[in-house]
Amino acid sequence: MTQLIKYDMYINGEWTPSSEGKYFKSYNPATGEAWCEVAEGIAEDVDRAVNAAQRAFENSEWSKMTYTQRGRLVSKLGDLIAENVEELATFETTDNGKLIREMRGQLRYLPEFYYYFGGLADKIQGRTLPIDKQDMFVFTNREPLGVVAAITPWNSPLYLTTLKLAPALVAGNTIVIKPSEVTSASLLELVRLVEEAGFPPGVVNVVTGFGQPVGEALTTHPLVRKIAFTGGEESARHVVRNSAENFAQLSLELGGKSPNIVFEDADPDNAAMGIIAGIFGASGQSCVAGSRAFLHKDIYDKVIHRLVERVQKIKIGDPLQDDTEMGPLATEAQLKRVENYVNFGKREGGNLIYGGKKPEQLEKGWYFQPTIFEHTDNQSRITREEIFGPVLSVIPFKDEAEAIQLANSTDYGLAAGIWATNIGKAHRVAKAVRAGIVWVNTYRSISPIAPIGGSGLSGYGREGGYEAIYDYTQSKVVWVNT
Ligand code: NAD
Repeated sequence: MTQLIKYDMYINGEWTPSSEGKYFKSYNPATGEAWCEVAEGIAEDVDRAVNAAQRAFENSEWSKMTYTQRGRLVSKLGDLIAENVEELATFETTDNGKLIREMRGQLRYLPEFYYYFGGLADKIQGRTLPIDKQDMFVFTNREPLGVVAAITPWNSPLYLTTLKLAPALVAGNTIVIKPSEVTSASLLELVRLVEEAGFPPGVVNVVTGFGQPVGEALTTHPLVRKIAFTGGEESARHVVRNSAENFAQLSLELGGKSPNIVFEDADPDNAAMGIIAGIFGASGQSCVAGSRAFLHKDIYDKVIHRLVERVQKIKIGDPLQDDTEMGPLATEAQLKRVENYVNFGKREGGNLIYGGKKPEQLEKGWYFQPTIFEHTDNQSRITREEIFGPVLSVIPFKDEAEAIQLANSTDYGLAAGIWATNIGKAHRVAKAVRAGIVWVNTYRSISPIAPIGGSGLSGYGREGGYEAIYDYTQSKVVWVNT
């Protein structure tokens, strides 16, 4: 057996085992075999990390730095990521099965987030207020919150951590990150670059381990002033309840059941490609996965034909190979979950037109075929619940009003795609759909300048864009009697 790589956690600028000295295994989804082991944190480790972060926030080199200096450090981290794309991509692909070519693309772009937020550091400003009282000079400042707890899922550890890390740091906060127990490695590799960039000890800390006890201890810790959570609904409910202990501020980036609406005037080739990229990218394990496609009845056959034609050619296999187009699911549990949903789909009257099982040639690893169901309505579990796998539900509609009604018949509100050439209609529908992100004739485009977030069961708060600065600062008003 090959030797497993061993990862410690990172507290107060030091690599440290857990207080109990235990480690847990992390698996490669392409083979189903363990490839590294990670320190299994407990509440004492969380306490050490939060206290280190609090000391760094209050009384260190960090607290004395100017905003410009902090911004430069954050930008430097971006430079180091740009120099280490290949290594980071390989670690993340090995840990969660995402395609290496997708990871390279994501990591080549990731530094832009550090540069954007690095550049915002010295533009975090308050205002002078034209107050209605004589002799009063009144102004506001935007101040950091203190210790931020960042809790992330397994599907995109580096990207989702970046959305929290970069704005939290430029605003002057310190941070304790708890990565998913399924994928800790790429983040711990990123932390080596944090060290190299020269952040003072305690500014960035990582406690690895499970939701219970690490996530629980972090979200109930009295010194944590903000919890930035990305993950599933069930864990989010614990986090919200726990935040009530100390009234920590919260942002929640949760799941979705995002629609792609294709109108009769859309380009069917572009729409089909957008739908495929939206649902089968990352094997459907994306919060913005376009898992429902609503097709106008006049374009229905054309789009379905193109979807099936293209999906048959998707090359499934080893995510480390350059020409692979779809990799495995991240865990065995995720594979079982997808299989269960496919069974619900069949039982509840869905018409399975492609896929629906593990590919025969890939016995090892947690692979699943790209899968397409046709439905006549939006009533079955697979058209309403987040699957987080490569399963697309296609439903026809007759007019704009019905498309909007179907798209909004969900408790989620994260993303939506609209495919149309009539610009007025595209704008009307963009306004009417309940989603924090709307893409017109494109899907899954991202930029550090554009905010990300949802409503309803998709959570609240915004990451990315200038909006993120508001989530990591608080306003202080100063009254001066002149
Ligand atoms: P999850 O909820 O199981 O885990 C997310 C994180 O929460 C992990 O680090 C986990 O250890 C931690 N956690 C679990 N229980 C906890 C508790 N009681 N207290 C504190 N922390 C706890 O989610 P997952 O399975 O890792 O990820 C999939 C989910 O994430 C999907 O629902 C997906 O839609 C969502 N997601 C959302 C976005 C977004 O930006 N909106 C992005 C990616 C993923």
